[in-house]
Amino acid sequence: MMRSFNFSAGPAMLPEAVMRKAQAEFLDWNDTTMSVMEMSHRSADYMALAHQMEADLREIMAIPDNYKVLFVHGGASLQFSAIPMNLTQPGDTVDYIDTGVWSSKAIKEARRFVNVNLVAGGESNPTKIPDASEWKFSDDAKYIHICSNETITGLEFQDAQLEAVFAQGKPVIADMSSNIMCRQIDVSKYAMIYAGAQKNIGPAGLAILIVRDDLIGHEREDCPTLMKWSTYAENESMFNTPNTWAWYLAGLVFQWIKELGGIQAIEAINQRKAQKLYDYIDASNFYHNRIDPSERSWMNVTFELPSEEMNAKFLEQSKSAGLLSLKGHRAFGGMRASIYNAMPEEGVDALIDFMQSFALQHA
Ligand code: PMP
Repeated sequence: MMRSFNFSAGPAMLPEAVMRKAQAEFLDWNDTTMSVMEMSHRSADYMALAHQMEADLREIMAIPDNYKVLFVHGGASLQFSAIPMNLTQPGDTVDYIDTGVWSSKAIKEARRFVNVNLVAGGESNPTKIPDASEWKFSDDAKYIHICSNETITGLEFQDAQLEAVFAQGKPVIADMSSNIMCRQIDVSKYAMIYAGAQKNIGPAGLAILIVRDDLIGHEREDCPTLMKWSTYAENESMFNTPNTWAWYLAGLVFQWIKELGGIQAIEAINQRKAQKLYDYIDASNFYHNRIDPSERSWMNVTFELPSEEMNAKFLEQSKSAGLLSLKGHRAFGGMRASIYNAMPEEGVDALIDFMQSFALQHA
């Protein structure tokens, strides 16, 4: 059986070793003679799995003890409204930086609940993060929200910009759906981090929140039970039935990261993967990337060919060559190669080889 290299933006490729382990224990998990999918989430076996999964995540991300890790429903998108509901009261002001589609969606949702001050941005699909000198923070913002990696364009906050955000001294909230665990970060600089699982964590249907303790328990009176962070914090994320299968697979992914040498090891591989792909694109006069070179994403590499006709031909032929899901998001066009943690370096090499021969044939 041959597995293709799948460049989907999410749900995305999972590590083959993880898939094989899940396959091997699909019918009989941990000598229980049943699938992990078929057992009570409150059974001792499953609780042990859940605790191990959380412990492994805490270890690989070096999450400080004064942060809760919550495993929630509703994807990253439900947090677009849960964040203001948990952290503000009507009439409060919050700061958002708009760097693309995902930050815009978060802003649109937050506007139902609070006054959103747009710190910067607002054009559709920007290819550059507005210069920090132009940012306009408000004095009384309850928090600052950023999307640290815009998945559609491949635009990622860099260290200097993050430092400029932290320097405001306000709670910083980051949507890390498409770059969580791609490199080491200092969790203690953030008030809250959230991510949908379906890129670097596991299958869809699970989102992970990392929330500083003191931010939990201040939700609005009318916040629905399952949107309150306190509900998850007080019930080990098991107030109701969680997505047990997704938790299990996420746990296998965390173990896989540990076996590889942790996020430090993955970071080096990710940097190499992204660098070689951008280097090839920049050296070619056939492919073009529109993102400011200093703010390019390690995870989502976008590029386009000289014409729509070429784009279409590229997609068709790359698929036949076993390089799947390279079509860019319709809002940005062109191609997008999502090269999350599970994409082996050979996948990126195979893509570059294919791009080279395609360019030779068609330039
Ligand atoms: N934020 C970002 C940066 C994303 O890429 C996505 C999904 N592609 C979302 C939020 C929404 O995630 P979900 O589908 O889990 O709600």
